[in-house]
Amino acid sequence: MANIVILGGGVGGIVAATRLRKKLPDEHDVIVIDRDNVHTFSPAFPWVLTGERDGDEISRGLGILAKKGITVINREVIGIDPQKMTVTTGDMEIPCDYLIVSLGASLAPDALPGFKDSTHNVYTLDGVKGLKHCLEDFRGGDTIILVSSLPYKCPAAPYEYALLLDALFSKKKIRDKVNLKIFTPEALPMPVAGPIVGNMVKSMLGKRGISFNPQMKALSIDTKQGKIFFENGDSVHFDLIAGIPPHKAPEVIIRSPLASETGWIKVDRNYLSTHFKNVFAIGDCTSIALPNGKPLPKAGVFAHFEADIVADNIVSDIKGEKGKKAFDGRGYCFLETGFGKAGFASGRFFAEPDPVVNMRMPARVWHWGKILFEKWWLKHWF
Ligand SMILES: Cc1cc2nc3c(=O)[nH]c(=O)nc-3n(C[C@H](O)[C@H](O)[C@H](O)COP(=O)(O)OP(=O)(O)OC[C@H]3O[C@@H](n4cnc5c(N)ncnc54)[C@H](O)[C@@H]3O)c2cc1C
Repeated sequence: MANIVILGGGVGGIVAATRLRKKLPDEHDVIVIDRDNVHTFSPAFPWVLTGERDGDEISRGLGILAKKGITVINREVIGIDPQKMTVTTGDMEIPCDYLIVSLGASLAPDALPGFKDSTHNVYTLDGVKGLKHCLEDFRGGDTIILVSSLPYKCPAAPYEYALLLDALFSKKKIRDKVNLKIFTPEALPMPVAGPIVGNMVKSMLGKRGISFNPQMKALSIDTKQGKIFFENGDSVHFDLIAGIPPHKAPEVIIRSPLASETGWIKVDRNYLSTHFKNVFAIGDCTSIALPNGKPLPKAGVFAHFEADIVADNIVSDIKGEKGKKAFDGRGYCFLETGFGKAGFASGRFFAEPDPVVNMRMPARVWHWGKILFEKWWLKHWF
């Protein structure tokens, strides 16, 4: 009998646990530990901003996993010992034969002085709801989409927010009273996807009158002055900020022997294995180097496919089967552009020498594709 422990009941954890439970006989335990008992489908956050969804519609209780025979432990993980193969929560020490770490990326708004006081954090449901509420009385002004620092999850999301805000302001007939600007430390939008995709998104922004300000790393935000200060000495005035906060590896990983010098877990890009036997890491908490040296972006699609690979390889190992599956770095994402349309990017991120990514131009079909994907996700796993 094997004890398979999965840390994190987000995208990677849900997929890995469900697949393991389906493929393994009942004598093996599949355990998910998460501090939250609700999973929220974050790709739909931009639709919460536009009023097309509310929080309840895109949230599901993790308790449903228990009905499938998965043990769900609703606790904070405070220790990971990959040598002893144990995991600690406040009151439990849980032994594991196989460990999958899928704890995501932590949001660290405190790491940018002034962020918390001045910014709507559009990477949390509450932050998006706050921005939506604030927009009800908004009559115009300097509106900034601020990417605080790199890396951050879902490289398309800031650009979706910018394009959807443009559409919202147009519908409200105040677009001519809004200066919409993006500030980011990146050189191009979605830079790992390469210059063709980056320039396509940049051109979409330009056509919509959204100013794109690359290589701008914020140092601090002063609420009283209404200004963001940047590393290069520049500053910009704001009336409203839709902000992506700094990200960091979860504390419990940083404190564990799994952490690399950056805090994220370095894994083998094909097998998601760590330095420790039977310990795997998937999703946003990992750091995966592409053949060109750039990092694989942090996105749910990768957490999902990595979870499939790790689950299948654990099943093969337990059953004594030969041959392992390898993650091939394929991924895709929708880019909502407003007015009922979306773009669609898909590609092979492990291609050599550089990722090969194609971007389909905004069309209704991709918008419907994202809606179908949302419906499938919330029905299939819950
Ligand atoms: C606005 C927005 C839009 C997005 N859109 C897309 C998109 O269109 N496509 C896409 O592919 N990706 C998208 N993403 C990114 C996607 O949500 C993440 O990449 C994905 O959730 C990563 O999965 P994960 O399993 O690594 O981590 P998560 O899904 O974040 O799960 C981590 C889990 O670990 C738990 N946890 C963390 N620390 C502890 C601890 N110490 N103890 C117990 N539990 C803990 C958390 O509660 C969480 O449930 C979007 C993200 C945002 C914010």
